[in-house]
Amino acid sequence: EEDPRINSIRTKIRLVPNFPKQGIDFLDITTLLLDPKAFKNTIDMFVERYKNKNISVVAGIEARGFIFGPPIALAIGAKFVPLRKPRKLPGEVISEEYTLEYGSDCLEMHLGAVQRGECALVVDDLVATGGTLCAAMNLLERAGAEVVECACVIELPALKDR
Ligand code: AMP
Repeated sequence: EEDPRINSIRTKIRLVPNFPKQGIDFLDITTLLLDPKAFKNTIDMFVERYKNKNISVVAGIEARGFIFGPPIALAIGAKFVPLRKPRKLPGEVISEEYTLEYGSDCLEMHLGAVQRGECALVVDDLVATGGTLCAAMNLLERAGAEVVECACVIELPALKDR
């Protein structure tokens, strides 16, 4: 039995063909944010799953992990740590490079944001190949944290169950 909230969420996500380039079906969560009920359902479902799990860190991936991560962090009583694109964070950072279909990218986290032994949840809007989530997990693990789970609103059907 599927939670009825899933459909309220699914129907608010807009598919934009050929964005940002030819052949890509972009799944746009900004239309979900316009519906307070569906947005709240999204956060509530994550909070129900992650409360009382001893998670002390919610790490959000730039940029759309910065939308879903903080309300989850506040509701479960965890801190929020932004994982940012290179050269955005002003303090000392650790960096993790990862390969994309074409080229490479990088995520950075402030040194000292996470202590050894902390339990972390990684949040983003969407998982496609999983490369971004893997880089995020590597960063947190290098800082000595244990990644409990990764939470995404959308999983691309072609890559189901990754
Ligand atoms: P990946 O590392 O391949 O799992 O890609 C996931 C990251 O790229 C996430 O940060 C997504 O926001 C973004 N992304 C990848 N594919 C799409 C898509 N079809 N629509 C929207 N965002 C996407």
